Amino acid sequence: MRPLSLTGPLVRIRSQIVFSMIGAAVLIGFVGSVAIFAQTVATRSLGLIEAGNVARGLANTLTFTASDGSPSLLDRPEALREFLQMQHDRSLRDFVIVDPNKIVIANASDDAHRIGSHFDHDTGNEVGQTLADGVPRQFVDPHEGVSVLTVPIERSEGKIVGAVLLEYDPLLRAAEQRTSDLLWLVGLAVAVAMLVAAGFAWVLLRRFGAGMSHMMKGMEALAKGDATARVSHVAKDEFGTLADGFNAMADQLASARAHIEDIVETVAEGIVVLESDGRIASVNPSAAMMIGRRADKIVGQPWDSVLKMHDHRGGAFASGASPVDMALSTGRRHQGEVRLIRSDGSQLPAIASCSPLSRLDGGLVLSLNDISELRHAEGVVNERADQLAALNSELHERSETTARLVKLGELLQACVTFPEAFSVVGAAMTEFLGGLSGTVHLTSASRNLVEEVVHWGGIKSSINQFAPEDCWALRRGQEHVAGPGMLTPRCAHITENGNKGYVCMPLAAQGETLGILHLCEPNAAERPQWLAERRQILRGVVDTLALALANLRLRETLRQQSIRDPNTGLFNRRYLEETSSRELRRVERSGQPLTMIMLDVDHFKQFNDTFGHEAGDLVLKQVAATLIEHARDSDIVSRYGGEEFALVMPGCSIDEGAERAETLRLAIRQLHLAHRGRTLGTVTASFGVAAYPEQAAGWAELANAADHALYNAKGEGRDRVVVARAGQPGERPAIQLVSTARTSADGQG
Ligand code: GH3
Ligand code: MG
Ligand code: MG
Repeated sequence: MRPLSLTGPLVRIRSQIVFSMIGAAVLIGFVGSVAIFAQTVATRSLGLIEAGNVARGLANTLTFTASDGSPSLLDRPEALREFLQMQHDRSLRDFVIVDPNKIVIANASDDAHRIGSHFDHDTGNEVGQTLADGVPRQFVDPHEGVSVLTVPIERSEGKIVGAVLLEYDPLLRAAEQRTSDLLWLVGLAVAVAMLVAAGFAWVLLRRFGAGMSHMMKGMEALAKGDATARVSHVAKDEFGTLADGFNAMADQLASARAHIEDIVETVAEGIVVLESDGRIASVNPSAAMMIGRRADKIVGQPWDSVLKMHDHRGGAFASGASPVDMALSTGRRHQGEVRLIRSDGSQLPAIASCSPLSRLDGGLVLSLNDISELRHAEGVVNERADQLAALNSELHERSETTARLVKLGELLQACVTFPEAFSVVGAAMTEFLGGLSGTVHLTSASRNLVEEVVHWGGIKSSINQFAPEDCWALRRGQEHVAGPGMLTPRCAHITENGNKGYVCMPLAAQGETLGILHLCEPNAAERPQWLAERRQILRGVVDTLALALANLRLRETLRQQSIRDPNTGLFNRRYLEETSSRELRRVERSGQPLTMIMLDVDHFKQFNDTFGHEAGDLVLKQVAATLIEHARDSDIVSRYGGEEFALVMPGCSIDEGAERAETLRLAIRQLHLAHRGRTLGTVTASFGVAAYPEQAAGWAELANAADHALYNAKGEGRDRVVVARAGQPGERPAIQLVSTARTSADGQG
């Protein structure tokens, strides 16, 4: 703020008062002088008029002619002189009467104008002129030094017959005496008036000076920023009223200033006031905090040395392009988002508004609005939006993945056999797992071998068969990942070197680990996210696959249970009948023979009775094992019922069948069975053999023929093979003895 300059105007006003007072005194003097002069002139004029009247009156008197016909005084010289002498004595005035030739005809004066002499005391012939034109005139008699007035003496017919010369100085002097007496009074009055004016001026100046001084002190203090400054003038005059007004104004100003200061100090907005040269005039605490420096260290500095700012992206402003530079250079308001570079190097996003001040010397106010929270919130919102978008896309991907997994699950559920399931897996996995190669290895029933069941992709990264302990995933029952830069050990079944990454995931379902799914990424070093990207779907695939395989295994078990005899492990009669009918149709098409052997353990009841049911079961198991041992892959070995067994041998002729039966008979005889330390003795069996198409046209007939042959073998003494007689199908087969064994066992039958 510029300090108020009160000295100049005060001096001028004081001088003005002094000059006004002097002017007033001069005016009073002037007016007095004018009055005196006017009075003097008036006096002279009045004297002259009076003298004129007197002279004219005398002239009229001199020519007056009474009605009785007596002559006028002018016509009577003696009477004229007496009359003039009387007038002179009465009025103490000098009179001279001249005729039209300026010859003195009467003289009532102290002057030496002789009667009959020519009047020549008018140097300008004023008397002569008045006698000529009848106009009164005045002149100064140079001999006597007196003022003389001359008026014409006219007869009634207007003829000028002479002139009266009247000395009017005494009249004038009397008037002047009166005027000079008045002059004294006027002079005194003027002097008194000037004195009074000077006195008033002095008092006025004193009071004005005191009031002014008080006002000046108060204003100067206020101008210097002292908000408590007040004017102490208490007199009940205009200055007192002014002082009261000033004090009230100062109170309001102080209150308003305190209010504004309070706002500026507490407002969250940073406020910086800059001088027109760019220096910082003041800063509020918020601005100092935003800048990161103490307010007293900032004030007086050039703004750009303490207020570093970048554009809203954090890049440096082009020269002169910051809002402050723009406002300083253009003098107009500029606003923009900036990044304040604080003293600790951190950046603070803010809105900088520069508004030029309306002061004469320029300057601007810079307000800084901290928008870091706004930007932070914005960032959070953006982040949330990104997260939401990512979540959405993940959800989308997941739903797609789920749909694909559901489809895979449906396909796998539709598979009846393992090979079917593996072909589905092999076809689907390349697409499911983003083109990566892999395998499914299943643990064998014996649990000592893990075998590859399906492989997809171009890279073979695992050996086909390995022990369960060669895979860390199977050992630990959890996912195992290894690859470049990883400390985890590589499984022993992996053929690839360390450049490739792989994962083995256990295929576990219903509490059982069925095997592993193995996946290989050849570029694991360049694509460290390869597994994370696929983990979701990989887990889905593994779960779906494990469940499907477990279901298949369960189904297979159930199927096995439904077609096999649990004691001997052989197919049951139902399976035999189903399969044999199918086999019969097959051999019928291919024109091959099919032979059936039916056998029954001899005197089996005795084993049960003698050694107990368990021993009986053991006999049955051993007989079954002997049958399996001697059977070909294509043969169907079944337990036909009780202690009766049946073998169906596709592609086998009746002769071969008889031979096979004989071999079996001997092998059974060779069994040495013991149960709980007791020898069970020799086991023998009787055999019936029949063949398609020689003895039977269909399955029922074949089974019937074989049964009959067996019946015959029993009838003929047991432990022997009887082949059904060759004949037309449907006929009762003839009995043909193939072999007869005579052993000690015969004794049992
Ligand atoms: P044959 O020489 O005439 O055939 O005389 P067998 O004693 O062998 O014949 P039988 O028909 O008189 O006896 C069969 C016995 O087999 C009756 C039954 O209790 C027994 N059996 C049937 N199934 C089983 C089985 O699964 N386990 C045991 N331990 N015994 C069985
Ligand atoms: Mg029997
Ligand atoms: Mg029987």
